[in-house]
Amino acid sequence: MMSPPPGLPNSLDYPEVPVGSLLAGAAARYGDRTAFQHGEQKLSFSQLWESACRFANALLDRGVGKGDTVALHLPNCLAFPIAYYGTLLAGATFSPANPLLPPGDLAAQLADCEAKAAVTFGPVAAALAGTGVELVIVVQPTDEGQLDFQEFLATAGQAVPRVDVDIDGLAHLAYTGGTTGRSKGVRIPHRNVVVNTLQYACWGSGAVPVLDGDGNPTLDQIGSEDEWPVRLGTGVGINLTPWFHAMGTIGGLNVAVVSGGTVVIHDRFDPPSYVADAQRLRVTSMSGAPALFAALLACEDFHKADLSSVRAITSGAAPMPHEMIKALQRLVPEAVIAEGYGLTEVTMGATLSPSWRSGTRKVGSVGVPIFDTEVKIVPAEGGEEELPPNTPGEVCVRGPQVMLGYHNRQEETAAVLVDGWLHTGDVGVIDDDGFLSIVDRKKDMLIYKGYNVYPRELEELLMALPQVASAAVVGRKTVETGELPVAFVVRAPGHDEATAEQLLDAVNTQVVPYKRLRELHFVDTIPVSAAGKVLKRELRAQLT
Ligand code: AMP
Repeated sequence: MMSPPPGLPNSLDYPEVPVGSLLAGAAARYGDRTAFQHGEQKLSFSQLWESACRFANALLDRGVGKGDTVALHLPNCLAFPIAYYGTLLAGATFSPANPLLPPGDLAAQLADCEAKAAVTFGPVAAALAGTGVELVIVVQPTDEGQLDFQEFLATAGQAVPRVDVDIDGLAHLAYTGGTTGRSKGVRIPHRNVVVNTLQYACWGSGAVPVLDGDGNPTLDQIGSEDEWPVRLGTGVGINLTPWFHAMGTIGGLNVAVVSGGTVVIHDRFDPPSYVADAQRLRVTSMSGAPALFAALLACEDFHKADLSSVRAITSGAAPMPHEMIKALQRLVPEAVIAEGYGLTEVTMGATLSPSWRSGTRKVGSVGVPIFDTEVKIVPAEGGEEELPPNTPGEVCVRGPQVMLGYHNRQEETAAVLVDGWLHTGDVGVIDDDGFLSIVDRKKDMLIYKGYNVYPRELEELLMALPQVASAAVVGRKTVETGELPVAFVVRAPGHDEATAEQLLDAVNTQVVPYKRLRELHFVDTIPVSAAGKVLKRELRAQLT
């Protein structure tokens, strides 16, 4: 079994505070340092605290507080963290909504979470019309009659918190990715948000939580610089992970805030501008879904850039192809590359590779359970008994970050939460050292003549071919066989001549007959969600 982070305790002592206190502690400690930057505009830790308090008080003045839900229908922008912490400081619940949700889906989600107020963005504000939300606050309004975010903030008389917030109260009501199944609200109390934030922040920079003189949490960095390359209060990173997704809300906002990092917002992902900014700002960490790293690796500038400031590369949300990890390590040899695994139902995450230099890293693994978290593998067909190491089955997670349940869906909650163990719906395997690898999603597994075929294995083989830039495998339903594995492939630059036969041959000679790919289609892009997950539903639809 892997030993715990050197110098750190096995278990953390989590402060019993609501989420707003994380920001209070960071503001007291990092004051004028820039917390968030968008173009030329900057927001320091103190300014963020003050504006968040104003937002909270402006909500309370309009009768929005404990027991109410505030939907944030926003792209990443400086108003997001203000509205996020402000909502939580008011004792209300934050419910994120993808600003690109089709109007019907948005209306259904807002009705399900019973949003009383919403913060939206001028260009997409019209989608809220007719949803019944009482108070709509608009960032960059486009119409005269809209309530401007800045004016709303200005209505609050004071910049101090006015209410006590219950740590067992609901902090997040986040809707799951929605790449499969119907969208469900996940109930996450303040306690879990604080826990999951501190689990990752401490694991990432060799720290433990402590309370400052005002009773607010802050981090004490006890790990040495030789071991932990990420240092508190010095980090700079470009953020593209949407904050309406768990990886953004916890990793991109809360972990960055408690670690005293500066987060630079980019409106959209343009690899050459990303690389230019990464050099100019001397970024210390790069994080995102594998789709971000795939695009960077396909960008010539990335290969020529001076990336010597980068100390840590962290990936999550979807499987990172093995070839990609090796290519990144060659380009940024000094950086510690870590992969994490999680889902909305565990606030954000359950595992991470060791972030300290002497820690073991295994290509293709998502690391080990973080502090105070247990992971077990049970038979994919059902049942609770733990399978021995090296046996694939369903991944189950138990720990203080696991959700309370799905909002108003008792049956669905009971189906996934058994004795505190969350059944994730992912198929994984734990090795003899306790490292978890995700084999695939249970839902993505194909059954060919009764045999289980995991698309990820075939995707890895395709991605290892020089002719392939990216690939996804889905099943074509047939009456005779059940499902046939079919690949969608984006050719690598300079390999326009690659044929389907060549690639099928290269993969099929490496696998047992039942796993063979039966069709291969070339496409310009593989569709991914804003959070970086391959939209297999869309690919399956192309097969009908
Ligand atoms: P979401 O709730 O939107 O965060 O989606 C969670 C799902 O993303 C998990 O159930 C996994 O299927 C997938 N996922 C997250 N991280 C990883 C990872 N590192 N490797 C493979 N799949 C992942």
